[in-house]
Amino acid sequence: MAAEVIDGKQISGQVRERVRDGVAADVGAGRRAPGLATVLVGDDPASHVYVANKRKACEEAGIRSIHHELATDVAEDDLVGLVRALEADPEVDGILVQMPLPSELDPDRVLAEISPAKDVDGLTPANAGLLAQGKIGVAEALELDSDAPVAGLIACTPSGVMEMLRVTGVPLEGAEAVIVGRSTLVGRPLASLLLSANATVTVCHSRTRDLVETCRRADVLVAAVGVAELVRGDWVKPGATVIDVGINRTENGLVGDVEFDGAAAIAQAITPVPGGVGPMTIAMLLANTLRAARANAYA
Ligand code: NDP
Repeated sequence: MAAEVIDGKQISGQVRERVRDGVAADVGAGRRAPGLATVLVGDDPASHVYVANKRKACEEAGIRSIHHELATDVAEDDLVGLVRALEADPEVDGILVQMPLPSELDPDRVLAEISPAKDVDGLTPANAGLLAQGKIGVAEALELDSDAPVAGLIACTPSGVMEMLRVTGVPLEGAEAVIVGRSTLVGRPLASLLLSANATVTVCHSRTRDLVETCRRADVLVAAVGVAELVRGDWVKPGATVIDVGINRTENGLVGDVEFDGAAAIAQAITPVPGGVGPMTIAMLLANTLRAARANAYA
């Protein structure tokens, strides 16, 4: 039987609507609109598309987008200076420096300038640490209906994956979850979230022995690798849920890290590329920006 295709556009639309309603309520109460600053360095075409999509989504949600573009050969000190200025600007609630930066620039030095309160990507050690300790989870990420103080901000792609699993009704308690990829952006924070949801989590990477056999154990299989169609249909356990985070540009267009047709023939549910995890990442960024603005009390 063919798998259910999990509709990231639809699920992200629900999150975006909640953000839009939250922003409208705040503005209706006399507050200024939340502000998200995006910083784009260089001319990587994919990064330009991602940032343009994020800015458009901000505008649709009523969030003010403040955008800065810098040349590939920008001095690191100038980039750091810009981030410091955004950090000091009371009308900027969130700062997003689009990764990857050109190889001459040190991402850790740049990210170190972003305070946890404006870290809408959830990448600072403080936010990542709270998540790793299980002190914050996806429930907090989607606490959009109240002014409750923000405990921390969670990386957008992993929290988006968790929201997709929740809406799809995928049981996580006691489930075998296997993540292929251990990046700070996706694999590691997602492992923390799945662990907090009481899944039994295995994280695979380039040195993993028996990758195929490990994937075959998974009730929930997540591919976040960056290798087109690495995960084949026969790596999937019958009835599993497959989440494909990968975005790879090939001569056949955009493809994920999972061989979709083969996996869809065996899985219970699967996310498509495009139209799966990608839209969730943007929706969770909007949610983080609204939460950051409220925590900053719209200073
Ligand atoms: P990284 O390159 O930072 O990490 C890739 C991970 O995959 C690493 O842990 C690496 O292992 C592992 N890996 C690489 N090759 C293999 C292999 N052959 N077998 C097993 N593991 C392997 O990537 P990201 O996490 O940043 O991104 C992953 C993918 O997700 C990319 O396609 C990216 O474009 C996409 N992405 C999509 C988003 C969305 O919104 N949909 C958001 C963010 C990313 P090791 O650590 O040993 O090197």
